[in-house]
Amino acid sequence: RTPREAHAFQAEVAELLHLMVHAVYSETDVFLRELISNASDACDRLRYEAIARPELLADDSALTIRLRPDTAAGTLTVSDNGIGMDRQELIDNLGTIARSGTRAFIGKLAAAKDGSGLIGQFGVGFYAAFMVADRIEVTSRRAGAAEAWVWRSTGAQGFEIEAADAARADRVRRGTEIVLHLKEDARKYLDAHEIERIVHAYSDHIQFPIMLEADAGKTDAGKPADEAASSDAAPRQVNTASAVWQRAKSELKPEDYTQAYRSICGAFDEPAMTLHYRVEGRQSYAVLLFVPSGSLFDLFDPARKSHLKLYVRRVYITDDASLLPSWLRFVRGVVDSEDLPLNISREMLQNNPQVAAMRKAITGRVLAELETLATKEPERFATVWEQFGAVIKEGLYEEPERREAILGLARFTSTAGSGRSLAQYVADLRENQTEIYYLVGEDIDRLKANPKLEAARARGIEVLLLTDPVDALWTSLRLDFQGKGFKSLSQGEVDFSLVPLADTAKPEADQTAADAAVDEAAVIAAVKLALGDKVSDVKASQRLTDSAACLVAGGFGPDRELERLLAKQNR
Ligand code: ADP
Ligand code: MG
Repeated sequence: RTPREAHAFQAEVAELLHLMVHAVYSETDVFLRELISNASDACDRLRYEAIARPELLADDSALTIRLRPDTAAGTLTVSDNGIGMDRQELIDNLGTIARSGTRAFIGKLAAAKDGSGLIGQFGVGFYAAFMVADRIEVTSRRAGAAEAWVWRSTGAQGFEIEAADAARADRVRRGTEIVLHLKEDARKYLDAHEIERIVHAYSDHIQFPIMLEADAGKTDAGKPADEAASSDAAPRQVNTASAVWQRAKSELKPEDYTQAYRSICGAFDEPAMTLHYRVEGRQSYAVLLFVPSGSLFDLFDPARKSHLKLYVRRVYITDDASLLPSWLRFVRGVVDSEDLPLNISREMLQNNPQVAAMRKAITGRVLAELETLATKEPERFATVWEQFGAVIKEGLYEEPERREAILGLARFTSTAGSGRSLAQYVADLRENQTEIYYLVGEDIDRLKANPKLEAARARGIEVLLLTDPVDALWTSLRLDFQGKGFKSLSQGEVDFSLVPLADTAKPEADQTAADAAVDEAAVIAAVKLALGDKVSDVKASQRLTDSAACLVAGGFGPDRELERLLAKQNR
């Protein structure tokens, strides 16, 4: 038998565990959802690998997740007969390799009062179990492997690995068994009703049966009569285990969608938008998508990946099939194809024309649904735009053919208010105004105080105030909306002279050019002398009414704010 081997947790994992063990969360239930979701992933992965290697399923093809409370031992066991982990995978996955979300999570958690929402969002996953357990033993056997391994930890220093003894090895023929030694204050998770309630709330739509087994620590003799009758010894399935997206829309209630959203997206709230439909024809597939109502931690990850899950005839294949463009990466959910070959490799998916066609169609549907939401439920749409507008705008330069639709959806804060659409802007154009004016900056208050707005204000011209980093990029494309070009107030010449003054403008605002011209040349010469090489030119401007001077970029150079933002991004 191999000796026990001690391993240290990777630094970030250790930090995370420390928070898990010591912080008090109101919402510890999520640990079970996380373990069940891992068990389900493991079954998914086995089913996928078994397409090429059916022998992996052997004589145990009914993939199942089991929950077993034991009041005498104070343990709750979560097991699955999925793919399992070999020795190295146990070491890597449970403690050594911190996932990308871990770092981000730790930062946010320290700032948040109640971390439970974050735990769901950041998918802290396995480690959430240390909120309720002070000792965890994981026994796992990789499908097809001769030996099983045990991982043990108290969540403190590190973990130990050793070969499983005969009894464990015999019990875990394939897959993973996780034994949680529950903390004193977490013993409610031994209660069958409590377990069932949590499964219902978060994991009902897990596709594999979740079997709740009888309490191993309760003897029939010690049981009250009514309980002995209700909790019989046979395992009982506690989830619906149906692919919710395959069911008819008419059959599903709003609660079903909320539950599916929570289970698929690991969320706690209500979806901001739900899209469920089925396509039949040249290609057949079912789609169930959600727009989350909360923010997402990985929204600005460099990978910018879309996380839609691709299934082929109910078998999970990958969440990396690019079924939506990255500028819709906040949309979560499932696409289940009837036509793709089951044994399609993840690599082949990247260039598959059927996938490309689905992507195009799904993108169109999502945009159309967002438009409908914007018309029918403008307030709800406003919150979606607030959360994800900055991501959607990336589509302006990534997908030229969707520009019109995206500009149509876009909402802006402008000198006329917030939540302004371009259609509203164009409808409210001032007489002789032919362009859409904007200013790009980092901060809305600083923008509002920008002297470059003065002349526009005097003429009642609306100016879009753009503060998302992405704004600097798409505005540099010189797009137009309904034939009106976008024009920056901080770049080159801006000519407002054809637009009449607003009634509210101060009378002296349009002080006659003649007056100003008197010493214009002298003033310019003096300023040039004073600034020397620091500026390329000094010119008289019509941008200002109250302020004496402002800095602008040359007519052909990059936008000044764009320069600043790019400099910031490249730091
Ligand atoms: P995530 O599920 O988001 O990857 P987790 O912390 O929940 O993160 O799990 C970490 C990793 O441990 C998983 O990616 C998986 O490789 C492995 N793992 C966890 N539970 C199981 C299980 N029941 N069967 C097989 N592998 C598992
Ligand atoms: Mg997980």
